[in-house]
Amino acid sequence: MTFAHIPAGYITCRLLAEACGPRIRSEKAYLSWGVFGAVAPDLDYLYLAVTGNLQVNHHLCFTHFLLVWVALFMASSVWMYRDRTGQPPLSAFMFSLGGLVHIFLDTIPGRVYWLAPFNYETFSGDNLLFSIATEFAQTHRHWGYGVELLIIIWAAILFANTGRANRRHSGLGTAVGERHSA
Ligand SMILES: [Zn+2]
Repeated sequence: MTFAHIPAGYITCRLLAEACGPRIRSEKAYLSWGVFGAVAPDLDYLYLAVTGNLQVNHHLCFTHFLLVWVALFMASSVWMYRDRTGQPPLSAFMFSLGGLVHIFLDTIPGRVYWLAPFNYETFSGDNLLFSIATEFAQTHRHWGYGVELLIIIWAAILFANTGRANRRHSGLGTAVGERHSA
C-alpha cells in the first residue's frame, strides 16, 4: 500500500477521538502521533536509501515486523491503564496503533512477513483473493489501488465533516469536551 497510510492514520484518530476525548489536551499532538505511527514502518526506506540498499525488500526490515508493533501496542496499553488521564500514553497508543494498521494495510495488496523474525512465511491479501476469487483477482490485478482510493475517500469525508463540526465548536478538543460534559 502506498498512498493510503496517512489517510488511514487520520481515520484511526478520528474514529477514536470521541473515546479518547478526555485525554486530548492537544488535538495537533493527538493527530500527529497517530499519523506518524501510520507511516513510521516505511521509515525503513530512509535507512535503505542512506545505505544504498533500496533494492532490498523493505518488508524484511524490523519496522515491518508485526511483532514490533504488537509489543509497542501492548506496552502503550499498559501505560494507558496505569495513567488514566494523561495524553503522553495516548500518543504512544495512537503511534503503535497507527503502525499496526500500516502492517495490515501493507498485507492487503502486498506480502508481509507476519511471523518474522521467527518465520519468514508471507501473508498476503492478494494471494488470499486469488485463492477465493481467482477470476476477479486475474481481471482486476490492481484491485489494491481501489482499496487505497476507498480509504482516501473515507478520510476526505471525515475531514470535511470534522471541518464542519470544528466551525461549529471551534476545535476537536472543545467539541469532544463539550460532548462529554453535556
Ligand atoms: Zn509499509
